[in-house]
Amino acid sequence: MAADTQTPLFIRMHEKDNVAIVVNDGGLPAGTQFNNGLMLREAIPQGHKVALIEIAKDQAITRYNVTIGYAQADIAAGSWIQEALVQLPPARELQNLPIANRKAPEMPALEGYTFQGFRNADGSVGTRNILAITTTVQCVAGVVDYAVKRIKEELLPRYPNVDDVVGLEHSYGCGVAIDAPDAMIPIRTVRNISLNPNFGGQTMVVSLGCEKLQPTRLFPKSVIPIQAQTQEQAEPDVVCLQDAGHIGFQSMITSIMQTAEKHLDKLNQRQRETCPASELVVGVQCGGSDAFSGVTANPAVGFATDLLVRAGATVMFSEVTEVRDGIDQLTSRAATPEIAEAMIREMDWYDQYLKRGGVDRSANTTPGNKKGGLSNIVEKAMGSIVKSGSAAITGVLSPGEKLTQKGLIYAATPASDFICGTLQTAAGMNLHIFTTGRGTPYGLAAVPVIKVATRNDLARRWHDLMDINAGRIASGEATIEELGWELFHFMLEVASGKKTWAEYWKLHNALVLFNPAPIT
Ligand code: CA
Repeated sequence: MAADTQTPLFIRMHEKDNVAIVVNDGGLPAGTQFNNGLMLREAIPQGHKVALIEIAKDQAITRYNVTIGYAQADIAAGSWIQEALVQLPPARELQNLPIANRKAPEMPALEGYTFQGFRNADGSVGTRNILAITTTVQCVAGVVDYAVKRIKEELLPRYPNVDDVVGLEHSYGCGVAIDAPDAMIPIRTVRNISLNPNFGGQTMVVSLGCEKLQPTRLFPKSVIPIQAQTQEQAEPDVVCLQDAGHIGFQSMITSIMQTAEKHLDKLNQRQRETCPASELVVGVQCGGSDAFSGVTANPAVGFATDLLVRAGATVMFSEVTEVRDGIDQLTSRAATPEIAEAMIREMDWYDQYLKRGGVDRSANTTPGNKKGGLSNIVEKAMGSIVKSGSAAITGVLSPGEKLTQKGLIYAATPASDFICGTLQTAAGMNLHIFTTGRGTPYGLAAVPVIKVATRNDLARRWHDLMDINAGRIASGEATIEELGWELFHFMLEVASGKKTWAEYWKLHNALVLFNPAPIT
């Protein structure tokens, strides 16, 4: 590949592939001839697929050495393979999968890499020092918003070691079937987000009073003492708006501000200290994907994932519908048969969940994905799954669960950007890597988000939103390995306090809970 963007270029992911994608910005016109002699029969947009050889009707269309579909008609070499020409193959059945049969490549330990983090009493490490105000129900959101604004203006300037104040507002808490079996997912998500390492164990709660999700249900005695050193700390600090003591709105705000001040004082005593890279807990995700996601950004993230695992850190990959079509790759990479079985259980649960709603995993792809060259969910999944690198998978989390181990973890979540981010925050993520091809200004209030562009054109246009440009891989200016190392070093800097673009502009998406249970 040459850096000269005038040269017509395509990228084939595997030597057995019969299609490749067009690299050049703006696509290529009909009649373009590549170095190997292939001539385009029609204009093909950037990121879209060209047939490298003739593909007969019903023959497999192969990318990533995987059948991404079957030809709906005869396709001549040099043709544009549009979505309508690709018939979606059926989902891989969840029976008779290869189980823990692939030995992970030798990965020598990486030592000596550190970052400046905030150590917590429970052994976790924060990358930010944030006061979080947990809420039990949406009813209090307006009041918490108002209070957070006042706290930021009037109190925060007095606590220079505290980075921010965040209201953990959500749509749950009342009007829900709280005893439904699946209600455990939103409930434990709110609970575990409150315990995220970036909040330093200073849990305070604003409750309405009459809601279904009572503070004692959100924080049963067994989970509270996680950071507590004294009995007095072993209760969550709750401000209840319906308390008879409150006369008027200002009384509620004063009460929230006084409680906040107590916790700001404790958080302000935290200092960054040198921590090994093994304390990083990184959630990887993609959103607004295009055909370059699986060629540039996601492989670079996969390389960085391997570096993190070698350094003893934790990496979570998620997004069920985007790995479902690669389930056989994942079950074979599981470190033990039990881990493979746990992944199959999560996929099966999700298949049933989608079926109840009358859809399947093919509902995942968006108009933007397709415009970016991704024909269907199989093609998207093959590009998404590479974020997980090549290490053995050593753990599985159900949605909303909290991590209890290090290594490469499959954290089952929907692929929805904000829901995945919310659930990875609940799992205990202290750093988030997000790749995008179409472009999204995504950010989280609780955890820094490093955004990686898949294409030079996006990185150029969104120069003050994208943190890393992986498009340089397609234009031949950097290798996957170089980009992976760059990302790894950048992660250590961001973990130490360097601001991402989303933090600089204060771009935060809402917490969005995954609630598969009924609403009443
Ligand atoms: Ca996503």
